[in-house]
Amino acid sequence: MEKQKMHSRTFSFEFFPPKTPEGEANLWRALEDLKGLEPGFVSVTYGAGGSTRDRTVELVTHIKERTGIEAMAHLTCVGHTRDELKAVLDTLAAAKLDNVLALRGDPPKGETAFVAAAGGFRYASELTEFIHQGDYRFCVGAACYPEGHVETHSRDDDLKHLKLKVDAGADFLITQLFFDNAFYFDFVERARRAGINVPIVPGIMPITNFEQIQRFLRMCGATMPMRLQLQLERVKDDHEAVMQLGVAHATVQCMELLARGVPGIHFYTLNRSPATRMIVGALQLRG
Ligand SMILES: Cc1cc2nc3c(=O)[nH]c(=O)nc-3n(C[C@H](O)[C@H](O)[C@H](O)COP(=O)(O)OP(=O)(O)OC[C@H]3O[C@@H](n4cnc5c(N)ncnc54)[C@H](O)[C@@H]3O)c2cc1C
Repeated sequence: MEKQKMHSRTFSFEFFPPKTPEGEANLWRALEDLKGLEPGFVSVTYGAGGSTRDRTVELVTHIKERTGIEAMAHLTCVGHTRDELKAVLDTLAAAKLDNVLALRGDPPKGETAFVAAAGGFRYASELTEFIHQGDYRFCVGAACYPEGHVETHSRDDDLKHLKLKVDAGADFLITQLFFDNAFYFDFVERARRAGINVPIVPGIMPITNFEQIQRFLRMCGATMPMRLQLQLERVKDDHEAVMQLGVAHATVQCMELLARGVPGIHFYTLNRSPATRMIVGALQLRG
């Protein structure tokens, strides 16, 4: 994908590598289903460890070959030496993949603090710099956090670190999920004031399951507006009602984001298509 293509206003969909044959079948069904919405790209997450890591590289390659959709691999520093990261990047480059999302990654399960691997990187900015110093032509994306990264003590420090990441070569940013657009708009304003001028693509997660979203929020430190939380609590055991509420909330969020000129919207699909399809379908109908 050309750099400017990634920067044009576009919908993108994020998937994770499934662990079972049933999950694999679901993923391909979701991809086929969402293909008609003409995503600018899809992305595949990189597991905290173990076998799904190889699956990320395999999957992005297969997705591009099988569907023709541009696919972006996420890549984290967790447990990797520079040589290992270089090997992954070489494989992605050989498969003619144009985009990579450079991340530090979360501490592995059971560990509370991130520890860099011997001969590896401490921060995503170091991985970003490494990619740029290599002989690659990747368009490099990176993560950002409208409500502040969960480990950070100060949102100002978080922004300073983000500036380092952009200066190291991040071409665009994708945000952590958020449910109140005010966080996004305020964040973009502060980022611009801090001299961060790359596109900041909002990441939207349609809520489809009450318990699951509470777990995600605890993990990533993002918040939910009290009104939405109360509405969800009232219907939490009714799967269909939770999904309807989630779709309605995300649609309203996206309408405002698009009206105010965001460069695109990245959907965290969790490998399921119906909610994302309903939201994007509604947005496309509005033109
Ligand atoms: C869009 C998106 C996609 C994601 N995909 C994945 C995935 O596929 N796999 C996965 O495991 N995780 C994924 N994550 C989660 C991500 O790995 C975690 O949020 C992780 O804790 C931080 O990664 P980062 O790349 O933002 O780290 P960094 O940018 O390195 O920041 C991590 C922390 O270090 C601080 N920091 C950065 N630089 C410095 C510095 N120079 N000095 C001091 N402190 C510093 C930051 O303020 C922040 O608190 C994703 C997150 C997002 C938003």
